[in-house]
Amino acid sequence: MHSLKKLFAAALAMPLLLNAGQSAIAQSAPSAQGKTELLWFGQAGFRIKTPEGKMILIDPWITGGPKTPPQYKNDLAAIGPIDAVLVTHAHVDHIGDAPAVAKSNNVKLYGPADMVTPLITLGILPADLGWRFNKTGRVTPLPGVKVTAVQAEHSSLLVWKNPATDKLESHPAGEPVGYIIELENGFKIWHMGDTGLFSDMKFISEHYKPDLVLIPIGGNFTMAPDDAAYALKTWVKPKMVIPMHYNSNPIAKGTLAEFQAAMKGSNIKIIPMIEGETVQF
Ligand SMILES: [Zn+2]
Repeated sequence: MHSLKKLFAAALAMPLLLNAGQSAIAQSAPSAQGKTELLWFGQAGFRIKTPEGKMILIDPWITGGPKTPPQYKNDLAAIGPIDAVLVTHAHVDHIGDAPAVAKSNNVKLYGPADMVTPLITLGILPADLGWRFNKTGRVTPLPGVKVTAVQAEHSSLLVWKNPATDKLESHPAGEPVGYIIELENGFKIWHMGDTGLFSDMKFISEHYKPDLVLIPIGGNFTMAPDDAAYALKTWVKPKMVIPMHYNSNPIAKGTLAEFQAAMKGSNIKIIPMIEGETVQF
């Protein structure tokens, strides 16, 4: 094996977890050269720091998230400068603060084509900040970073309060997606978005070969812990997995403990996180 590859494999095997108290320190200090860093805000919201130091925000339900750490919940700017925003679908716990962050950073919001269109036509997002694409479409939001939209078995609807009437309106918002996010060094993250089980998870994994999978386990709206474990062990088989989309909604009752129990016997590395925590690869 090439020595660089060896080094990379060793780095993959040793994710560095920092607890919530340490995360502020980790953010203020320059991260190690070439490291990928994930900060979890809760639910499906992550900030990914790329090996080249760029910041990608995905599904940021921050000011509205019940488990968002207060330093971010009370001050959206505390998440720091963002270089690109990704959204998997229009449900509020995913679109959350995405338009606000895209506008305050003057960066593009990438999402399913028919979700971005109503954001623009309703005046939620300026047209020049919306990037429409769709499943199997690939974008390069930052130099050396490739993002491919993939299937997610779910739904998408935009609920918006019309300022003219002060009433809530429901707008069709296209189909939900997941994302294969390939960073500058080739490290691949599959953010599954919200999804139920579908057997093309096997195809997606074989075709894109993700190193790390972010998988919903809460149930009710997505896979529950047992189905998430089935998908991972039977079809996806990644090196590492971070469970997400649990602990934020009382009717999505799936727990980390249930997921860990269902994964027993698998050699897939489970990286449990708590809201506000960061992990490096
Ligand atoms: Zn959803």
